[in-house]
Amino acid sequence: MKILKKLLSHQELGTQLDLYSFHEIAPGAPFWHPKGMVIFRELEKIIREALDRANYQEISTPIMVRKDLFEKSGHFKFYKDLMFTVKNDNQTFVIKPMNCPESTIIYCSKVRSWRDLPLRFSEIGRLHRKELSGVLNGLFRVRQITMDDAHIYARQNQMIDEIDNLIKLINNFYKIFGFKTSYYLATRPDEAMGEKSLWNKAEDALANALKQNKIKYEIQPKEGAFYGPKIEVHVKDSLDRAWQLGTIQVDFNMAEKFNLSFVNQEGKREKPVVIHRAVFGSFERFIGILVENYQGAFPIWLSPVQVKVLNLTDRNEKYAANITAKLTADGLRVELNTANETIGKKIREAELEKIPYILIAGDKEEKTGTVAVRERGKGNLGTEKLEKFKSKILSEIKKKSA
Ligand SMILES: [Zn+2]
Repeated sequence: MKILKKLLSHQELGTQLDLYSFHEIAPGAPFWHPKGMVIFRELEKIIREALDRANYQEISTPIMVRKDLFEKSGHFKFYKDLMFTVKNDNQTFVIKPMNCPESTIIYCSKVRSWRDLPLRFSEIGRLHRKELSGVLNGLFRVRQITMDDAHIYARQNQMIDEIDNLIKLINNFYKIFGFKTSYYLATRPDEAMGEKSLWNKAEDALANALKQNKIKYEIQPKEGAFYGPKIEVHVKDSLDRAWQLGTIQVDFNMAEKFNLSFVNQEGKREKPVVIHRAVFGSFERFIGILVENYQGAFPIWLSPVQVKVLNLTDRNEKYAANITAKLTADGLRVELNTANETIGKKIREAELEKIPYILIAGDKEEKTGTVAVRERGKGNLGTEKLEKFKSKILSEIKKKSA
């Protein structure tokens, strides 16, 4: 009979694998250790690469801004209790709980022509929300949030293409992790701003883009935001748990509140449509989900340490160090363990760290320029030339499979 292993929480795995920690000194704000930061950086890398290919432009806006910006956007009225404020020089500042209003400042920094649109501003922004201490929960519910955010400023007739692009972007991204997706379309609530005809247009654009991608979806009647309809993407992880991650929201409010415009083909001012979108929401929550999803056994491209090199005897210490240096020089994340312990103990330690590959260097391997390879979950694979091993795992990393 198969014995089911006890699943560990991301808090337990974070400690065990030395990824991050939480401290009373900063409730709701994780401390990222070097190994956790590797995961964070890999996610930043893949999202940035995808956005560069999709013609986004990255921006960065201040963490602290004067309160009146959030009053103008209407956020302060609704989210006042969630915002941290700071007083200085008789002025009140807020620590931004979202990036949206600040992105409009960059949009408005010059006159935009219809030719400039769509403008896709992405931001990996650090946000703060005053969550009650009772609801804080590891990486799942934090006060300091890093969003993979973007705001797209488009003409009305570009809306459907933009939403279509977003659905493809989100789908491709989740495929990397093997997540199954389900889609929801949230429509106009009773209390809504903007003309009804505009809402219909936006809802149609969202629905058509879903149909164009042959995506089945459910309608969530009247569940849209007061400022526009949205698509929400839920995923199921390997443990069959559902998470709400991606979101695509059409917004009529921002253009109105901030008087956004572009010069259209007739030379007249026209309002752009704003689309807010997040692919995986927050880095913190997404990493928490990944840690639990993989139970710490990350695919090689995401593993904080990809290869562990162990020497069999003291005589092989130098050879093991050479192997480590060669692999590191090719961009691999490698650790060397030359502790004066039995090889059995060193292998067990590396296995507990869930490292994808363990290389053992003894006299035989040193003589032939080879390494004895052990793969996570598979055990001993026999000896291999170092160069061959290296090119094999470099191509495995490039594939970025789940
Ligand atoms: Zn936004």
